[in-house]
Amino acid sequence: MDLAKTSLTRNILIGMLAGMVFGLLLFFLGLNENSIVKTYLLDGLLKVVGDVFVRSLKVLVVPLVLVSLICGTAAMDDIRRLGAVGVKTVALYLATTCIAISIALGLALVFQPGEGFELTDSVSFTAKEAPPLIEVIINIFPTNPFQAMAEGNMLQVITFAILMGIALVLAGDAGSRVLSVFKDMNEVIMKLVVLLMHIAPYGVFAKITLVFATTGYGAIKTLGLYFVLVLLSLILHAVVVYPILLKSLSGLNPLLFFKKFRNVQMFAFSTASSNATIPVTLRAVEKRLGVRNRIASFTVPLGATINMDGTAIMQGVATVFIANVAGIDLTFTQILMVIATATLASIGTAGVPGVGLIMLAMVLQQVGLPVEYIGLIIGIDRLLDMVRTAVNVTGDATVSCIIAKSEKEIDEAVFSDPESKGS
Ligand code: ASP
Repeated sequence: MDLAKTSLTRNILIGMLAGMVFGLLLFFLGLNENSIVKTYLLDGLLKVVGDVFVRSLKVLVVPLVLVSLICGTAAMDDIRRLGAVGVKTVALYLATTCIAISIALGLALVFQPGEGFELTDSVSFTAKEAPPLIEVIINIFPTNPFQAMAEGNMLQVITFAILMGIALVLAGDAGSRVLSVFKDMNEVIMKLVVLLMHIAPYGVFAKITLVFATTGYGAIKTLGLYFVLVLLSLILHAVVVYPILLKSLSGLNPLLFFKKFRNVQMFAFSTASSNATIPVTLRAVEKRLGVRNRIASFTVPLGATINMDGTAIMQGVATVFIANVAGIDLTFTQILMVIATATLASIGTAGVPGVGLIMLAMVLQQVGLPVEYIGLIIGIDRLLDMVRTAVNVTGDATVSCIIAKSEKEIDEAVFSDPESKGS
């Protein structure tokens, strides 16, 4: 049994590496332009396999979050605790994002990417209007739960699930009968996640090949310093900040954490979507890291929806880059404003590919920088999106562990068991 699981992790890793090599090969041999390769392989077979993989992940997100969070809320021994956990979680999510963007801005201000950048082509990017804060708050509350689910509006689904969970506790016998149905459904959906993992190596291979076969290496070269700085800040945040936070706030071993969470990072990397990764994150946080369902079912979907540290990092470096290209010096007040807006923008960034770039428009507008310059970095954004999504989900899991530890809701025997890979 264990052997099978180890080989699954190994196979996903092989799928990822093989995808990179194969994709780059197609790119460098120029085969990505060949019409047969393009029609039958890139836009044909690989697209089918990759899209089926991501769709099968996505199909589980809403039912899993709904059912799991209803069970989690109903299992809180004291419903009042929910409020305290909620405030603590949101505060920690915001704090990690604030640290993330500060690191990014710090590095970018030292190395000044974009200085001397020659604008060769005209750039264009039209920003979408960001919704005002009041509307964002009102929109957390659904008017129709089915519509919220059909639209995949996670904050509304989370609100509805919490309310249902509370009502189930308060509804006595009727509540416990309904709850037992939800508990059984939770088991069944978790099994679906396990089933799905078996197609993951192929899905990952297809997704990664497509990105590497189509992303121009030339674009990386011209935007070299920007690319390197985003990558460096992402790596710093993931391998220095998270481990320090985990160790100092919960005493848990960061090395074990990373070992057990590797799988999820690969899923996030290949799908570039924290949202689509929720089923896998939730399963790993509960079964491998030992966080009890009543905490994980709340912190994981919430994190995938509002906590985007990796995205904030990209936005920090991008802001300095764009300011330099436009020849504008950022004042100290503007820098503080970038920190505040990017942290808030992270709440509004949906966990799907590429949204971080759209929210960047809001940050730029706030400090009066030219939004159309976003067009400059679109070309290499997909690659960075993959890495930042892996960082985003790592942040969600780190905070989940810290909150669970502080609430005594983590099974440390599971966390410290190097073999525990979940059933
Ligand atoms: N793709 C990111 C995520 O799903 C969001 C973004 O930065 O575009 O976490």
